[in-house]
Amino acid sequence: MRGMLVLDDVSKSFGDTRALRSIRLSIPPHRTLALIGPSGCGKSTLLRLLIGLIAPDSGRIQFESEIISSDTVLALRRRMGYVIQDGGLFPHLTARENVSLQARYLGRSRDEVASRIHQLAELARFPLDGLDRYPVQLSGGQRQRVSLMRSLMLDPDVLLLDEPLGALDPMIRSELQVDLRRIFRSLKKTVVLVTHDLAEARYFADRIVLMLDGRIVQEGSYAELTAEPADAFVTRFINAQNTIHGGGEVAES
Ligand code: ADP
Repeated sequence: MRGMLVLDDVSKSFGDTRALRSIRLSIPPHRTLALIGPSGCGKSTLLRLLIGLIAPDSGRIQFESEIISSDTVLALRRRMGYVIQDGGLFPHLTARENVSLQARYLGRSRDEVASRIHQLAELARFPLDGLDRYPVQLSGGQRQRVSLMRSLMLDPDVLLLDEPLGALDPMIRSELQVDLRRIFRSLKKTVVLVTHDLAEARYFADRIVLMLDGRIVQEGSYAELTAEPADAFVTRFINAQNTIHGGGEVAES
């Protein structure tokens, strides 16, 4: 299958830190891919390259057939929704204003925007009376629902989510997990989700990309990672996560 997003030999350093080293990855359309790995392995950097917030030092990134560059990034970014851990909402704008900002900027009519917001509130199970509240007046889970609505406002082809549930307490987190999976499946978006939680990666994703020190250690389904681990780190990572969650251990290879 042709990749919707393709990273071809992409490297990125920050000073002496090599955040990504020769990454090659093809992200298929209409599926959910999880990026997982220990803190600092380069997951967020990879996502920020995809949305064009930073540029690679070498290699190239393509969105369908277009290379993401300073000339194309603004147009391509409109086809991608981006959700970060703390939601990234503007504190001085209401939920409604946060969700509608970009569409209004692009000249969409007030009526069109209003009807889209209602549709998104229903999809994200966000209460209509919360739309005129400021982020500080919403719970953490509600803020993430607003952030999700904002990311979907322009009906993007791609959704990039960086630990979207990382700051939420367990009950709220599991409610949002269920809603997010339903939304991903019903909208058939191409989704790239960063998480450090293997159970969450399994729950959402068709394919898992496990990273370490700026490299991809293995890409595959959970079953492939457990049955045919690329190296000892894969098994150690899976076992450590299963121990945390009290799940069954995977045999060391
Ligand atoms: P992860 O999301 O897997 O936790 P990151 O992609 O955030 O990892 O970071 C990868 C590495 O790059 C880390 O060592 C981090 O400290 C470093 N890094 C990321 N962004 C910057 C930055 N803007 N300036 C300096 N170092 C950075």
